[in-house]
Amino acid sequence: MAVRSIVQIGDPALRRVADPVPPDEIGAPWVQQLVDDLVDTMRHANGAGLAATQIGEPWRIAVMEVTHNPRYPYKPPIPLTVAINPVIEPLDGEMVDINEGCLSVPWRGVVARHVNVSAQYLDRDGVAHDEVKRGLTAGTWQHECDHLDGIVFADRADPATFMTWEMFERHHRAAFVERITAFVEWAGS
Ligand code: ZN
Repeated sequence: MAVRSIVQIGDPALRRVADPVPPDEIGAPWVQQLVDDLVDTMRHANGAGLAATQIGEPWRIAVMEVTHNPRYPYKPPIPLTVAINPVIEPLDGEMVDINEGCLSVPWRGVVARHVNVSAQYLDRDGVAHDEVKRGLTAGTWQHECDHLDGIVFADRADPATFMTWEMFERHHRAAFVERITAFVEWAGS
């Protein structure tokens, strides 16, 4: 168990395209330790998700979990999910604007995300999953999978929407939470 330091925007580690984990190595101590470190680090930082590239490890592993998250209190719950070699695909053209943050970026911004995606991945036991993700949860999957390709949300956001967390709280939170809460109720996740 270890809380690792999270690399910040500008660190080349955040721009690396991560390598697939050889499936026959998922049970190996180095993979299991890396998964444990990702979970510990995500929870310590109150993140909704964390990709291995964010702790400087160029492997296609992301973890996600939302319980009662003080950074994102409007996000619906996500049970602890370990996604190894995830592949996501949009299922249709439906989009939603999400005001996102990131543990590797000190500001927030608005990103258009797909509402419905398919997600194929291996869990930490090497079991294959093929699931549909929807709503804000689908947005979280897109955010984390982007990290594994060296992409951060700021690349996809209109820079005119960038804001500090303080300015989010002061000027944007109320309207965003009202809109996104209605969206979550409609989408069911
Ligand atoms: Zn992020």
